[in-house]
Parts: sequence; C-alpha cells; structure tokens
Amino acid sequence: MMNLNEEQKLIRNTVRDFASKEVAPLARQIDKNNEFPAATIKKMAELQLLGIPFPEKYGGAGSDKLSYIIAVEELARVCGSTSITLAAHISLGSFPIYAFGTEAQKKKFLVPLAQGKQLGGLGLTEPNAGSDASGTQTTAVKKSDGYLLNGTKTFITNANVGEIFIVLAKTDKKAAGTHGISAFIVAKDTPGFTNGKKEDKLGLRGSDTGELVFEDCLIPMENLLGKEGEGFKYVMKTLDGGRISIGALGLGIAQGALDKSINYVKERKQFDRPIGSFQAIQNMVADMTTEIAAARHLVYHAAQLSDAGQPFSLESAMAKLFASEVAMRATKNTIQIFGGYGYMKEYEVERYYRDAKLCEIGEGTSEIQRIVIARQVIGKL
Ligand SMILES: Cc1cc2nc3c(=O)[nH]c(=O)nc-3n(C[C@H](O)[C@H](O)[C@H](O)COP(=O)(O)OP(=O)(O)OC[C@H]3O[C@@H](n4cnc5c(N)ncnc54)[C@H](O)[C@@H]3O)c2cc1C
Repeated sequence: MMNLNEEQKLIRNTVRDFASKEVAPLARQIDKNNEFPAATIKKMAELQLLGIPFPEKYGGAGSDKLSYIIAVEELARVCGSTSITLAAHISLGSFPIYAFGTEAQKKKFLVPLAQGKQLGGLGLTEPNAGSDASGTQTTAVKKSDGYLLNGTKTFITNANVGEIFIVLAKTDKKAAGTHGISAFIVAKDTPGFTNGKKEDKLGLRGSDTGELVFEDCLIPMENLLGKEGEGFKYVMKTLDGGRISIGALGLGIAQGALDKSINYVKERKQFDRPIGSFQAIQNMVADMTTEIAAARHLVYHAAQLSDAGQPFSLESAMAKLFASEVAMRATKNTIQIFGGYGYMKEYEVERYYRDAKLCEIGEGTSEIQRIVIARQVIGKL
C-alpha cells in the first residue's frame, strides 16, 4: 500500500465505512431494478463527497485528487453504480467548469455541483461519434442572444438525474476534424433540452445512462466554456483526469471481487478441505492480489502527478487500461472460484463481472487507450 497522508486516510476510512453501511446493502437491489440510488447520493452530498477535490470557496471539500480517487475506489468495492455516478459528476460534469470556467461560471454552476445540490455530467458521445469525437454532429449556431444548440448525445451518465451538463457542439461547421468544436455549460431547465431514452444496461444498472436531446435550445452567451472552438482540447484534458477515475472504478471492483473470493475460499469445502487449500485456487487469488496492487500503484501515481501539477496524460491512460483489464480478469476468476454459485445472482459476484466491463469501454475504449499510450512513447509517425 502506498503511503497516504492523514487526510487521505480519513477519507478512505470514512468512505469505506459509509460504503459498507449505506451502499453495499442496496447494491443488489439497484442493479436488479435498474434503480438510481438517489437517497444514497443525497447522503454522500451531506458527507461532502460530491465536491471532494474542489476548493471550499467553490463549495468543495478542499481535498486533493488522490482523496477523490480513493473515494471512487472504495465505493466501487461494494457498488460500481454508485461509484460511477460520483466519478461522472466530479470528473466529467464539474471538473471542466473548475478548470476552464470563468469566476462567474464557477460561482453559478460549480458551487451547487460541488455542494451536491445538483448532479453533473458530460455530453460528448453521439450516435455517430464515439471514439472519434471529430464526428460530432451536434451544432451550436451563434445568434444575437446566444447559441442555438441542436443534436443528440447518447450513453450519457447522469443524463436523467443530472441538472448541469458540459456539452460539446460544432460551432464552425467548416473547420476540419476536431477544430471548430466548442464546450457549453447547459442547464437541464433550458427550453429545448429534453431527455431521450434511458438505457437498460448489462452492468452498472443502478447508474443512470441516457440521452440528451437539444432542439433549438438557446444557450446564453455566458455559458460558453472557455474559448469558442477550443472545446475538444478541454475535453481531452477532462478525459485525462476522468480516466484515472475509471481506473479507480476498475480497481475498486477488482478489490471487491477479491475480498469476496478470500472469504469464500476459506468457507467453501470440497473433498473435505477448504477450496483455498487447492493450489489452483491459491494461484488465482495470488494473481488477483498482485495485479490489483500493481493497478493501485498506477492509478494512485497518476492521481499524484495530477495533484503535483505535472503531466499525467500517459499515466492516466496506462492506469485506466491496466486497471480495467485487471478488473475483468479478477471478476472472471472470482466467478470461477465461486463455481456454480458464482453464476447465480444471489452471490453478487456476477454483478462485479458485468459492472467491470464498462471500464474497458467508457472514456475511451482499451483500443483507444493503447493508441494514446503508443502515440506518446513512439511519437507521431
Ligand atoms: C455505461 C456507459 C456510460 C457512458 N457515459 C458517458 C458519458 O457520461 N459521456 C459521454 O460523452 N459518453 C459516455 N459513454 C460513451 C463512451 O465513452 C463510448 O461508448 C466510448 O467512447 C466508445 O464509443 P462508441 O460506443 O461509439 O464505440 P465506437 O467508437 O463505435 O467503437 C467500436 C469499437 O471500435 C473500436 N475502435 C474505434 N476506433 C478505433 C481505432 N481508431 N482503432 C482501433 N479500434 C477502434 C473501439 O475500441 C470499439 O471496440 C458511456 C458509455 C457507456 C457504455
């Protein structure tokens, strides 16, 4: 375990305690019913968890990025859905305002987000623009009184439950590729902004995923985030940070699966012996333990670089890629360790397996992470 300071340890212990008492008991129910855990999120707001890394003057808890990452990890250890809700709210919905917003935008939008009075999200993905954001078809046309937004964003976390979204739209249709894309802060109550369908997902079923639909939605001039045409750059920086949180999500899911495996191998007996005495089972536990420790180093290291103000784009991509794949292997092996019981919903480990898969897809698939990593080490050819 890496050395944590007193504040980081306090946040870890507080969230661990909260997760086991308040989050774990609901995890199976919200997964089964596709039910957003609104009451839990409210309690998390009271604990100041919804604004962990933001300064107190903007309604946050004034802690660091690593503390936030540890919170995401600890929640994921018992419930991936609750964890991704926090991760999307902080890394995707709130961070861009903190990093690129004006003082007035921070006061108006970041404060209620960081205080947990409202939930946030990011609208980047579209039906025809996923890995390749340059295919963005949502448009924002400048008028005398604001920008007229038209388009649809798909697979958006917190879409139906969130109230503030960072939305990417093409402001210069003639600009090629990722140029001419701008970022806007869009409030749910803006006329012309509605939700499309709510998704019915493989995993993370308690988290809310849906569409953002904009039909002649007039965005006030002052809701442009940063400079016009620079939105893609802001999103890339946002995703650098977001990827650490998806790494933490994978890490927590993997650790939760390992926790369950360790208990089970001591209890379950076959051939008159606990199955943990069989070397084949020990090997799986040993591999999971080792890989999770390595993933934790990568994820925490990326967060520490971010806290230190150093570049961390490569490290966050590596952390996300590795932790996601560790989560898949760990949850797969946990089902194997549980045998037939692992296949049954009652034992919950199949939920970990389903939840883990998102980590290899969201905020850049594993294929895209490998491109990001290789580009940084090889350079552009
Ligand atoms: C549960 C969930 C929550 C999400 N939350 C959000 C959110 O809050 N906000 C948001 O904006 N988006 C969100 N997303 C969208 C997510 O970021 C995208 O699904 C993801 O980036 C992949 O895009 P795509 O689904 O269009 O897949 P595609 O881009 O169509 O990819 C399909 C396949 O092709 C591969 N591929 C594509 N390009 C290349 C390439 N150049 N080289 C090699 N392989 C390639 C991909 O890796 C993948 O295997 C969410 C998705 C899910 C499932």
